[in-house]
Amino acid sequence: MSWSRTVVAVDGPAGSGKSSVSRAAARALGFEFLDTGAAYRALAWLGLERGVDFADEAALVALVDELGDGLTTDPDDQRVTVAGSDVTDAIRQPRVTAVVSAVARVAEVRRRLNERFRARLDAPGAPGIVAEGRDITTVVAPDASVRVLLTADERVRIQRRRAELTGASSADVAKLVADRDRKDAQVVDFMTAAEGVTTLDSTDLTFDETVEAMVALVRAAES
Ligand code: C5P
Repeated sequence: MSWSRTVVAVDGPAGSGKSSVSRAAARALGFEFLDTGAAYRALAWLGLERGVDFADEAALVALVDELGDGLTTDPDDQRVTVAGSDVTDAIRQPRVTAVVSAVARVAEVRRRLNERFRARLDAPGAPGIVAEGRDITTVVAPDASVRVLLTADERVRIQRRRAELTGASSADVAKLVADRDRKDAQVVDFMTAAEGVTTLDSTDLTFDETVEAMVALVRAAES
């Protein structure tokens, strides 16, 4: 697919800082920002609302039509709405995180969401868009102008997640991060960079340094 604007594809595991780094890089570049994980989370939230059986693939696929197109792409105003309800905060609840991998496992769900993601990437708007997830560099936009795998050592990722989840013990967070990576890795490989994808390891970088490195990769590709 040839894109009508600059597409920056970012993948990485849980706790790598993908979302916050990608959003800040988008802001610095004057680009839009698409958090594809939010769509999987919104679907998982809707499944819990409707009481669907998460082993019932057809029921999960049917929910994609109900999902609508409720993701904003303004890096300064990220909101998620489903059927008129604002679920921006609700989709971050642990009960949603616990079931999201079951939704993401379904191939037809992924195919339908990917079509929507591609339409958003190619839509008119800012001169570019940063999209982050697990399979953006490989499946959604393998032909993006810039492709980045954002990684960090597991120890650092657990520390960062722990800072977000106040009150959780280190052992609990370690288990949550490891379990989700293990389940997600069965569906897409986001731990090794595909050919042509630049690995950005944030283990020893501050947040600002990581954002600067990502912005530099985009500027280098554009010049
Ligand atoms: O990035 P985040 O942790 O919010 O993603 C939530 C879940 O959505 C992941 O654990 C994964 O199961 C799924 N996901 C995916 N492919 C993407 C983005 C997210 O399978 N491109």
